[in-house]
Amino acid sequence: MARVFNFSAGPAALPEEVLRQAADELLDWNKSGQSVMEMSHRGKEYMGIHAQAEADLRELLAIPANYKVLFLQGGATLQFEMIPVNLLRGKAGADYVHTGEWAKKAIKEAKLFGQVNVVASAEDANFNYAPAQKDWKLDKNAAYVHYTANETIGGVEFHWTPDTGDVPLVCDMSSNILSKPVDVSKYGLIYAGAQKNIGPAGLTIVIVRDDLIGHAVPTPPTMLDYKIHADNDSMYNTPPTYGIYIAGLVFQWLKRQGGLVAVERKNIEKAALLYDFLDGSKFFANPVRKQDRSRMNVPFTLKNAELDDAFLKGAKERNMIQLKGHRSVGGMRASIYNAMPVAGVEALVAYMREFERQHG
Ligand SMILES: *Cc1c(COP(=O)(O)O)cnc(C)c1O
Repeated sequence: MARVFNFSAGPAALPEEVLRQAADELLDWNKSGQSVMEMSHRGKEYMGIHAQAEADLRELLAIPANYKVLFLQGGATLQFEMIPVNLLRGKAGADYVHTGEWAKKAIKEAKLFGQVNVVASAEDANFNYAPAQKDWKLDKNAAYVHYTANETIGGVEFHWTPDTGDVPLVCDMSSNILSKPVDVSKYGLIYAGAQKNIGPAGLTIVIVRDDLIGHAVPTPPTMLDYKIHADNDSMYNTPPTYGIYIAGLVFQWLKRQGGLVAVERKNIEKAALLYDFLDGSKFFANPVRKQDRSRMNVPFTLKNAELDDAFLKGAKERNMIQLKGHRSVGGMRASIYNAMPVAGVEALVAYMREFERQHG
C-alpha cells in the first residue's frame, strides 16, 4: 500500500504511526474486547483515555492549572459565537484584528452579539501581512481582543504574541496549535478545530482561563455556556470520543518527537526548504511578507496560471495530493502541518524544480 504525501489544509494528514496504532487497536482496545468507538463515555476505559489526552495536552503546552481544557464540537466556527456569548461579560464590545478569511468570519459572528472594533486590518495589502502591535488601536474597555494566529488560506502567521495588558487575549489557533511552544498564560482563551494539526474533524479544543468562565449572557443556551462544559469535564453530553482518542494518540506521538521545541525546529526546517526554493525561483512566487509567512500553509502561484492543472496532475502522478489553492485565492497551497514529514516537502520541492525546468 502506497501512502501519498497529503498537502491538504484540513482535514489534513495524520502521523502514520498514529494511524497504524489506531488500526491495531480498532477492534480491541487494550484487551477490552471493544473498539474505542463503541465505548460508553462514562465507562472507566474511555474516561481513562479522555483524562490521559487532557493530561498529555497540558504537558505539551505547559497549560497552567488555572486554565480549563474543553473538548467540544461544532468546529472553530462555533467558537466564533461562543466567545462573544461567554466573554463579552456585559461590556459593549470587543476588539478584533482583521487578517483574512478566518478573521472575517469571526468578526461577522461577533457582530451578532455586540460592537466589534476592528483595531487593525491587513486589508490594505490584500491580507499579505500580520499587522504590527504598534498599529493596533486597542480599546482598554474592550471585553477581549481576538486575533487569528495563522490564516490558513492566506498563509500569514503571527510569529509573536500580542500584549493586550489586562484585556483578555483570545486566539484562533486552529491551524498552528501544537506547531511550536506557546506561553498559554499570555492568553485568556485559545481555541482550535482539530482537523488541521490535532486529529480528526469533529473535535474542537478550547483552553480558557477559569476566571473567564461563568459570565455568559443571561440564560445562555446550555450548549453554548463554557461553564456547563467545564463543570462537567466536557461530558455534559456525549463528547466526540473517537476524535479525542485519536487526538490523544497524536499528543503521545508529539511527546515522542521530543515535545514542541523539537517539533518547532522541524517545522522551521520544512518551511525553510519550501520558502528558500520559492524565493530562488523565477517561476513560482509566494505573496506574503517574509517575516509573517506561515510555517503551516504555504500558498504559491505559478508564473503562468494556465499551467496550474498540469502542475496538479504531475503532482498527483508523483503521489502528492491536495495542492490546489483555496477557491478564494487560486494558485497552489501546500499545507505542511506537524504530520508532514521532511521527505514530503523535499519531494514537493524536487518536483517544483523539475516543473520549472520544463516550463520556466
Ligand atoms: C479551519 C479553520 C477554521 C474553521 O474550522 P471549522 O472546524 O471548520 O469550524 C477557523 N479558523 C481557522 C484559522 C481555520 O484554519
